[in-house]
Amino acid sequence: MDTNIFCVLCGCPFALEHHVYGIDPHKNEYQWLYDARLLSATSALLTLRMTTRSGEKHRNFSGNDEIFLSQRTCWSITDADCFQLDESFYHVLTVDEAGDAMFPLHQSCITIACRAIESHTADSAIEESDSSIIQLYNFLNRSLQANSASGATGVAAYDIFSLRNPSSNGPRSVLALDDLSWWSGAYEKFFADPLEIPNLLPAILNSLQPLSSETDEVQSADLTNGSQYGLEALPIELLDQIESQLSARSILSLRQSSRTLASKIAFDERFWRRQLCNGSLLPHIWDLEEDQFRHLLQAASHAQAWDWGNLAERLRVNHVISSQYYPYTEVFPAGLWNRCRIWNIIGNACRSPCGHQVSEESDVQQSDIHRGNSYLKPLATFGLSTILILTSAWWDWTPLAG
Ligand SMILES: [Zn+2]
Repeated sequence: MDTNIFCVLCGCPFALEHHVYGIDPHKNEYQWLYDARLLSATSALLTLRMTTRSGEKHRNFSGNDEIFLSQRTCWSITDADCFQLDESFYHVLTVDEAGDAMFPLHQSCITIACRAIESHTADSAIEESDSSIIQLYNFLNRSLQANSASGATGVAAYDIFSLRNPSSNGPRSVLALDDLSWWSGAYEKFFADPLEIPNLLPAILNSLQPLSSETDEVQSADLTNGSQYGLEALPIELLDQIESQLSARSILSLRQSSRTLASKIAFDERFWRRQLCNGSLLPHIWDLEEDQFRHLLQAASHAQAWDWGNLAERLRVNHVISSQYYPYTEVFPAGLWNRCRIWNIIGNACRSPCGHQVSEESDVQQSDIHRGNSYLKPLATFGLSTILILTSAWWDWTPLAG
């Protein structure tokens, strides 16, 4: 990029330079890059303001008086480190005397980051009273201050998520691509719209595989023994009704409470489909409709059972972005890859006290599941799905209390 102004959440610019990337900036799938918002402490509107009409005030979309989230604004490369709001101009990515900064962010990245934070809050034992947008600003500002305190200056100080660094899955941002002088058509997937993903449903449907009979046998194994009381005595049909109202985490807790319940509440096709479609299992995929799937599948086949568990496994964040899982990941749209990339950046970095990148493989380790609350209230990139997938067999066969 010919500029040092970038979105710290994804590493992408706020305007595309055709001569650099060799792509058409007018394409619909790239327009999300032009939807920029400013996130700052409200007090920074005074300290980082360059010019203004007297007494100008802007609408605040954060829902909080102390944190400011702007309306849509735009930027071009000739604007350098200035963004215009109404009639005022502001310095971005610079720290004022109070230690606050103004971060230009893509609206899409804000949405993904807030969803990741909310997902973590739902999974965490810690009560969090601040909204996700406030948590996001506080985290960005703390990380910026930590970078500055460690001696980082200029662009390096604002590379909060170490997006210039390489990773085991290849470059994590266009910033890393730039450093590698990697110009050959590698940019497109980093610029693919991570929110409005064309053909997401058909692509996922195409990767759904028939359920093998062996899987069926394991799922239907019956471990019940002895007398049954209370919930254990309920018929499976009623338990299924209860299960349909619960989150995946609550269902896991219920299964853990009794060996009988563990055998009656199966990790079957319906469980995986329902939890995948309601966003409980893989929170980075929130835009699937179970009814749409059911309709399409009914049109294709009446009798076929499908392996939704396998599909959920392949749709995990790290599996979508990892080349290790080729060719499965190649069938998913570039926008989903980009969404998983951004989700992974935020989730991984927030596990580290300094906000720096940690091992990308760490979120599939059992130790992470039990780590609980670390210094910065870690964001579980897909902690719940990890629990489900890695330990489902263990829960099925380990003796449980009850
Ligand atoms: Zn962004």
